[in-house]
Amino acid sequence: MKIAVFSTKTYDQEYFARYNEEFGYSFSFYETALNKDTAKLATDCDVVCVFVNDIVNKETINILKTNGINLIALRCAGYNNVDLDAAAKENIKVVRVPAYSPEAVAEHALALILTLNRKTHKAYNRVREGNFSLKNLIGFNLNNKTIGVIGTGKIGETFCKIMKGFGCKIIAYDIAENENLVKLGVEYMPLEKVFEQSDILSLHCPLNKHTKHIVNKASIASMKGGVMIINTSRGALIKTEDAIEGLKNKKIGYLGVDVYEQEENLFFEDHSEVIIEDDMLLRLLSFPNVLITSHQAYFTKEAMDQITTITLENIKAFENGSELVNEVRQ
Ligand code: NAD
Repeated sequence: MKIAVFSTKTYDQEYFARYNEEFGYSFSFYETALNKDTAKLATDCDVVCVFVNDIVNKETINILKTNGINLIALRCAGYNNVDLDAAAKENIKVVRVPAYSPEAVAEHALALILTLNRKTHKAYNRVREGNFSLKNLIGFNLNNKTIGVIGTGKIGETFCKIMKGFGCKIIAYDIAENENLVKLGVEYMPLEKVFEQSDILSLHCPLNKHTKHIVNKASIASMKGGVMIINTSRGALIKTEDAIEGLKNKKIGYLGVDVYEQEENLFFEDHSEVIIEDDMLLRLLSFPNVLITSHQAYFTKEAMDQITTITLENIKAFENGSELVNEVRQ
């Protein structure tokens, strides 16, 4: 099997090399993202392997099919960037890594909360410059705060358990209740109530037509003043311009995001020596109470081990004609 791997960094190549011994596949690694213009790079390959910001739309899929691709192997959980209808029409199978390390993402959500709250990023710089003042570093106790969780699947469940350990009250909204969490004392309620009652709101649902811009002008208006919003899921869950308005009028007290609506042309790359043209991102970066990380929540050794092995096993199952346990269908 020959696999064209898009959006790769050296660490992706290292992990594939480490685990490929028992599979013996041949890889073509591309730093560029997969899209309609780069799809031709997969000529002569059997499989394309893609990540979160590859644009696998109808046009791209048609080109892939012409080039003989029969499998799209996502090395991530979310699949909002793949046109599943178009893939089905072309009889191209789509597989993903549904669960690799929910702890990685849930723990990063906690890192965003603690950093925004206790301002360790600012303290680090201050102390290094000989500034031992505590001015404006005041935080708040997490104990007894109400945490609203939207989406209580694998990552949301792990996040709820972590926050329980901090003595928080957890309220949640999901289209399906998670029995483990109900037993743990998590209280499910309608989405509007979660928005109204949360001191900290953390998003863990997938991006789809129902959840796009779930955090918008109206939902922000219904939240508590000074609410902390955390998004480690997908950027477009938050309507960025409405979040900027919420920060300007101080309704939002803290914003911590690992994902951003327009991240695909920026994240994972070094843009430190170029002029960034995304004015919304720059406006976000100008707020002292906003913390942005570059889609790194998944990035732990444990997660990379699992992402790589499950991706290779998905491809092996396809090669053997076995059941595709991680297939994604519309
Ligand atoms: P999951 O499928 O286990 O859980 C998703 C949960 O969302 C499910 O319980 C589902 O019922 C719920 N849901 C679906 N539609 C909903 C809606 N309209 N409103 C409320 N809840 C809804 O997925 P997971 O493994 O927990 O991952 C969650 C998301 O995290 C992924 O979709 C992905 O976008 C994101 N993610 C981000 C990173 C990162 O590095 N930042 C890494 C992995 C996953």
